[in-house]
Amino acid sequence: VPISNIRNFCIIAHIDHGKSTLVDKLLQMTGTVQQREMKEQFLDNMDLERERGITIKLQAARMRYMFGNEAYCLNLIDTPGHVDFSYEVSRSLAACEGALLVVDASQGVEAQTLANVYLALENNLEIITVLNKIDLPGAEPDRVVKEIEEIVGLDCSNAMLCSAKMGIGIIEILNAIVERIPPPNDTAESPLRALIFDSYYDPYRGVIVYFRVIDGTLKKGDRIHFMASEKDYTADEIGVLSPNQLQVEELYSGEVGYLSASIRSVADARVGDTITHYGRRAENLLPGYEEATPMVFCGLFPVDADQYPELRDALEKLQLNDAALKFEPETSSAMGFGFRCGFLGLLHMEIVQERLEREYNLNLITTAPSVVYRVNCVDGDTVECSNPSILPEPGRRRSIEEPFVKIDMLTPKDYIGSLMELAQDRRGEFKEIKFISEIRASISYELPLSEMVGDFFDQLKSRSKGYASMEYTFIGYKESDLVKLDIQINGECVEPLATIVHKDKAYAVGRALTLRLKELIPRHMFKVPIQKDMTNKRDLWADGDIGTYSRRC
Ligand code: GDP
Ligand code: MG
Repeated sequence: VPISNIRNFCIIAHIDHGKSTLVDKLLQMTGTVQQREMKEQFLDNMDLERERGITIKLQAARMRYMFGNEAYCLNLIDTPGHVDFSYEVSRSLAACEGALLVVDASQGVEAQTLANVYLALENNLEIITVLNKIDLPGAEPDRVVKEIEEIVGLDCSNAMLCSAKMGIGIIEILNAIVERIPPPNDTAESPLRALIFDSYYDPYRGVIVYFRVIDGTLKKGDRIHFMASEKDYTADEIGVLSPNQLQVEELYSGEVGYLSASIRSVADARVGDTITHYGRRAENLLPGYEEATPMVFCGLFPVDADQYPELRDALEKLQLNDAALKFEPETSSAMGFGFRCGFLGLLHMEIVQERLEREYNLNLITTAPSVVYRVNCVDGDTVECSNPSILPEPGRRRSIEEPFVKIDMLTPKDYIGSLMELAQDRRGEFKEIKFISEIRASISYELPLSEMVGDFFDQLKSRSKGYASMEYTFIGYKESDLVKLDIQINGECVEPLATIVHKDKAYAVGRALTLRLKELIPRHMFKVPIQKDMTNKRDLWADGDIGTYSRRC
């Protein structure tokens, strides 16, 4: 089809608001996947995905749709739903001209959804609001429309009403995609620039890269250059996703596709990188490229010391597929040999821990998660420190800075008090409260990331009976009055138990920890595992559609 008949879009939705159901209907209605095929083939795909686990964050599907007398090519690009992966969400949005905002009309808009809507607006996407589940007796599309208009200032006068489950409103949505989302710019003659919005490691074919051609034309067999990683490869295979991989000879500006080039690690073809031609290079990378910065760290130790080499192998394998995962060896007299690992956030940490235990059969002890502190020393040095044991001596320290986040909580009004108390307990600084409708409010705080890495999310859910949602963004480093809390057993410091805490909390934290230890130590004879609390995980798992994260309960 001509470029004027291409539409690239993604779907923004909170978990359970009906994204998968809607995608199924769009694929069926456009004949991309037949109903019968849907069950068989799709289940197969899902199994594969499950095997590969949650590392395949985003994929795409190409649909053919007849509108009037013309054929249109609709490319759906999937986005992960969780804030830990907001960078990846932002890159998949940057690959689109429009977005469907799907909101459950019986619930309302949620915090993570909003975060992604703001990203979409920053990327100048045309947003089509879809109110789903209008078949439910409790659906209140008018209230939900008001909420969206109130909080994002988005004009929802042409919001679409839909029941993905009953197949109501699907054609109207397809028509709106064609009519309201602009086509890509035609720059097929410019030097090649393709934006990577996803990649995964396939043990047989090497890394498979998903990209949107922004400028130029890519042909099969072209010599290509990755501008950020500065690696060169040959595009042995290129194709489109329909939604299975289908080889083609050429991809032009505006098109979405995949390539395989015997790339050995996803670190060579990172999300956000720009692909250009080896010979005719583009001048500049596409905007928005960022290195992955781990924000949360923890120590991983095998319960059985013999498993240390297996743990190292497993981490190396996972890293092939996950450019954001960082690790380095760590030794401790109490825990033996292990690794200090860095993650994008809590969900990312849990995913990796879970995969190590389930897929690699490792039995692990995990130390409490911590963040990276910045220590300004009297001699002018700045030491970055994710591990309390390498904290410079008190005499050398001038000040300690810690990472802060801004959190936005959306909640029914009954739980406002309890959630504000929670944030205040965690050294939160109140910023703003806003009623987005008569019954729901949005509350913002700034607080230290270290106060969030514990059970903050679980607390939010239990205090609001599951009704509140939240998202957070990193806002930068700030000085805090922090001290190192050492724990001694039998008069000896146990390094892995040391933590960095706020001065005002040191006593309470120390007391709680020693009380726990007192209970644990006789039973465990001085080997003190730090227990990890993995309750209420379900909401933390991101979810995807065209074969992405498997849903966990
Ligand atoms: P996702 O998490 O956003 O992908 O949501 P799903 O598509 O998995 O849907 C979550 C639940 O809502 C499932 O039980 C669906 O059957 C149900 N659901 C989805 N769309 C509708 C709808 O239009 N009406 C009703 N009543 N239920 C729906
Ligand atoms: Mg889903």
